[in-house]
Amino acid sequence: MKVAFFSTKSYDRRFFESINANYGHELTFFEAPLNANTTPLATDFPAVCMFVNDIADAHTLKNLASCGTKLLALRSAGFNTVDLKQAAELGIKVVRVPAYSPYAVAEHAVALILALNRKIYRAYNRVRDDNFALEGLLGFDLHGCTVGVIGTGRVGMVFAQIMRGFGCTILGYDAYPNEQFSQYVSLPELFEQSDIISLHCPLLPETHHLIDETAIVQMKPGMMLINTSRGALIDTTAVIAGIKSGKIGYLGIDVYEQEESLFFQDLSDTIIQDDTFQLLQSFPNVLITAHQAFFTRNALEAIATTTLLNITEFEQGHPLKNEVAYPFALV
Ligand code: NAD
Repeated sequence: MKVAFFSTKSYDRRFFESINANYGHELTFFEAPLNANTTPLATDFPAVCMFVNDIADAHTLKNLASCGTKLLALRSAGFNTVDLKQAAELGIKVVRVPAYSPYAVAEHAVALILALNRKIYRAYNRVRDDNFALEGLLGFDLHGCTVGVIGTGRVGMVFAQIMRGFGCTILGYDAYPNEQFSQYVSLPELFEQSDIISLHCPLLPETHHLIDETAIVQMKPGMMLINTSRGALIDTTAVIAGIKSGKIGYLGIDVYEQEESLFFQDLSDTIIQDDTFQLLQSFPNVLITAHQAFFTRNALEAIATTTLLNITEFEQGHPLKNEVAYPFALV
């Protein structure tokens, strides 16, 4: 099947071309993001493959439908930028990669915790500058800490398991509890008791700005907040106020609410216009990575394999195992 890939980088091309040897689809790679302006590139492609910050809103989907697109294959788990209702009305099927490597994302969340706690990013720069002083690098033992996990799905469960290995007490909150996890508490209890809170739930209307002013008021002073899920789970303005007041002692984020205009590109020669992002960057207790939690070779192989399999299922008229149908039911 002819597939138009949007927002592609060299690593997408490398992994997809290699694994496509087993599937035989006709792949065309575009660097442009998918949005209402770039849809003419998809003309005569029955399948379009998009990534996390591509926009498949109503306008884009209508354009795609008129270009002949029948399948939207997301090479991601999250689907918050797709208007599923519109896709259903236009008869465009949407498929995704629900699971690739929960270890990649969970381990990155742990990397953020360790780097923030022991200030590895500051220590690295100091030592390179022949500054061997320890002032300002004081950390704390993870052993004995209470860690709150919001969203105990694939990533949240792996994250909880790793943190248990450090000797932490784990508390969880999930709108749809699972039987493998036993330490569920209410959200207010999780906010009140956790030294570290890590977000592992999807971005949905009900989780938008889950971490807002009301949530932050309930948290322990000096707590650590980690977000590797989706930027808009956090009300960034409220979090900045929380950092300034000292309520939030550490912030580690791999995702940012307005990341579409920043992440996945080299902007080192430009002036960043996003003042909120620049303010966040200026705090010594904030560590930002640019949506790289998924970025392991194991995950990229799994993403390419599942995406190409999803496309084959559609081409052959088989049931779509990884369809994101409207309305989408989580359980
Ligand atoms: P998953 O579907 O296995 O788990 C999500 C969990 O969130 C489920 O247990 C679900 O019941 C729970 N949930 C749903 N609504 C909730 C609510 N209102 N409150 C609390 N919990 C709720 O997904 P996963 O594979 O564990 O991935 C988790 C998230 O990680 C994804 O939604 C995605 O946004 C993010 N992610 C980020 C990256 C990255 O590179 N940074 C990569 C992959 C996934």
